Amino acid sequence: MSWLRQLFRRDQTTTQRWRVLQIEVTSRCLLQCTFCPKQSFGHNWIYGDLPWSLFDECIAPHLSRFDLVYLQGWGEPLLHPQLWEMIRATKAAGCRVGFTTCGSALDETNSARLLDAGVDILSISFAGATPATHEALRVGSDFRKLAANAERIARLKKERALAVPLLEQHFLMLRSNIHELPEFVRLAASLGMDEAVATNVVYTPTHEIAAERVFAESPDPRHLELVAEAEREAKRLGITFRAYPLTMNPNILECDAYPTETAYINHLGQVAPCVYLGLPTRDLAPRIFEGQEHPIAPVNFGSICLGLLAAMQGAERAQFIGAFRARKAFAYSALALSAASGVDAQTRLPDPPSPCRFCYKMYGI
Ligand code: SF4
Repeated sequence: MSWLRQLFRRDQTTTQRWRVLQIEVTSRCLLQCTFCPKQSFGHNWIYGDLPWSLFDECIAPHLSRFDLVYLQGWGEPLLHPQLWEMIRATKAAGCRVGFTTCGSALDETNSARLLDAGVDILSISFAGATPATHEALRVGSDFRKLAANAERIARLKKERALAVPLLEQHFLMLRSNIHELPEFVRLAASLGMDEAVATNVVYTPTHEIAAERVFAESPDPRHLELVAEAEREAKRLGITFRAYPLTMNPNILECDAYPTETAYINHLGQVAPCVYLGLPTRDLAPRIFEGQEHPIAPVNFGSICLGLLAAMQGAERAQFIGAFRARKAFAYSALALSAASGVDAQTRLPDPPSPCRFCYKMYGI
């Protein structure tokens, strides 16, 4: 049973510190990526920045409760005018800090500031290994400039002999670009990145975006072979490579957003379990799951104006994460029973929280 095996990999957090606080500092971005939900939301997308006063007064006092603060939501963090103050406050609180960038603003000045600030993790987003593929998907991005920006920060880090940031180069695996995955790994190695990471298009608000996914119950063998080839290339070149699974697993105990140990704050100051349930939308968020429409009703554990800790320790969050804890507790019991009786337990796991039932993250992809 795959869900039993997961018990040996992870433990539950029982302390008052949490692993990750993810913060959407802005929902604005200068690109028009074809797979980004904001393209399909129209006027329902709420554009904006997290006000510095909200960060300073309602988040900063509690930062030391978290190990890692990831300053990332659905927008480009480098657009936020007070990003550097946020990074400084987060480091001063003793947290590790990171964010993901589309790389357009990763110029020499920002790269130097990032290294000076001691940012721990920087992920740079690609959607291809060639200008034609990347620019057709990440509309508005200049592939050559992006690659030059990535190479520069890797070089500056090396020249200064710094241990951080961990430089991750991300590749969103889609039908239209996965043939370039092995070349992407070669590119990441040549640019001096620490890791190449291949991710899936987890949130599919339209049928067009859903048609681009490469994960499935039984993925296309050609796609699996491309991932295997990328792994071989990474090994040959000595670069770390992580690819999210293409095969859906129906027995995930808790998704890898780990909502029992983390929280997400969108730029409106709402505390949610994850980026998908905290979308900055005026209405239900459209979602296509296995060809069917299953709109998402945003989940809000509370506003940071009323207290981040109150939201983290409140009844709504307790109920939500309780469903995941029940799955894990059930799996532990089944494991004990199986060990005692020698019979493989086949009983069905308790359901995840209802907003998660049609999320591909519950399938481990
Ligand atoms: S399963 Fe999906 S919707 Fe639910 S918490 Fe995880 S990432 Fe969010």
